[in-house]
Amino acid sequence: MKGVNIVSVKDNVAIINENISKACKAVDRDPNEITVIAVTKYVSIDRAKEAIDAGVVNLGENRKEGFLDKHQALGEEATWHFIGSLQSRKVKEVIEEIDILHSLDRKSLAKEINKRREQPLSCFVQVNVSGEESKHGLAPEEVLDFVKMAEAYGNIRIIGLMTMAPHVEDEEKLRAVFRKLRALRDEVQAQGFAHAPCDFLSMGMSNDYEIAIEEGATHIRIGTSLVGNESNGGDNR
Ligand SMILES: *Cc1c(COP(=O)(O)O)cnc(C)c1O
Repeated sequence: MKGVNIVSVKDNVAIINENISKACKAVDRDPNEITVIAVTKYVSIDRAKEAIDAGVVNLGENRKEGFLDKHQALGEEATWHFIGSLQSRKVKEVIEEIDILHSLDRKSLAKEINKRREQPLSCFVQVNVSGEESKHGLAPEEVLDFVKMAEAYGNIRIIGLMTMAPHVEDEEKLRAVFRKLRALRDEVQAQGFAHAPCDFLSMGMSNDYEIAIEEGATHIRIGTSLVGNESNGGDNR
């Protein structure tokens, strides 16, 4: 839809909700199991506010600065997800404002969060399922040991696993990535760890959220299709 810059967030939300319903129906899931996170990293505070007004009250940012700007302006009105890689030295500046972290990917980060948080933080462990070098996250075979290790940190609560699928058109490749994350989630869940209920799967973005839902996603992270991208002239894929 190049050139159509001023699609309202409300209209996008209606389309996305419709697509979520269809995907859920296809695999006999309840749409209420799906949490939509509006990823606002490419848009203004006003546009993020539009998402909240359209009923999407979960917002996600991937950088400290953008996160703090939006949080300062809209803090009370939303639940705050940090979805980008977080440097240990920046933890103390943002950690109390984060409701859910999607990018726990190393011991040093767990240790720093544990030290800085007053209360336990709900975290997704990020997994690099596709093995692309450009992507953050643990290798699949490291996940179980990592989760066990995190038991030592009382302020880390592992609520699920997160991944970013590769940018490919091949639907079967995407499904394979999502399935692998789900199988890993099931494996962690089966351990019955008190600190790691691991009920959730954060996977699916603008291009692949319907497939992710069919494969079990509970949290989908949508930027471009929901709020657009003001840094590329509003292109709305
Ligand atoms: C940017 C981003 C998204 C959203 O991407 P879109 O393709 O714009 O929907 C989701 N997850 C993460 C981790 C991101 O950085």
